[in-house]
Amino acid sequence: MRILTVGNPADSLVLRQKAALVTGRMLRTDDYAVLRRRMLATVQDPQNSGVGIAAPQVGILRRMIAVQRFDKPGEPFEFYLNPEIVESSAETAPGREGCLSIPGLAGTVVRAQRIVLRYRDERFAEKTETIDGFTAVIFQHETDHLDGILYTDRTDEAPTPEE
Ligand code: ZN
Repeated sequence: MRILTVGNPADSLVLRQKAALVTGRMLRTDDYAVLRRRMLATVQDPQNSGVGIAAPQVGILRRMIAVQRFDKPGEPFEFYLNPEIVESSAETAPGREGCLSIPGLAGTVVRAQRIVLRYRDERFAEKTETIDGFTAVIFQHETDHLDGILYTDRTDEAPTPEE
């Protein structure tokens, strides 16, 4: 599955757009099942594996992300629809971040240590969850993608080659 990258001007235009809400009706379509499968295959591709992915990164401008839950047993990838960060802790910490759409590079970004996330699950039920630590950072990074924001917008430091 091709991933959109910032180095490609046409891709970059898509990555910079605001994604539209997912509706409950979409969840029952074949398109949704295909998108879900594509996102998972892309983020788990051994060639360029990631810890999270947002639908715009595979060219679909919908508010849908997959995040690897390092805070859960087995560290599963889970899908979140229409995610919204409704609270962020005042406590922040810097951390290195990479992005499948900015291949080969990483940068240091300061993020909230704890967030409260409101979202729809894959049955379209509304949920609210408090998430801490590294997993909270992934949620902040992926949710930004839905508004056309990249981690490089959140730091003054230029990204450097990934270690
Ligand atoms: Zn990213």
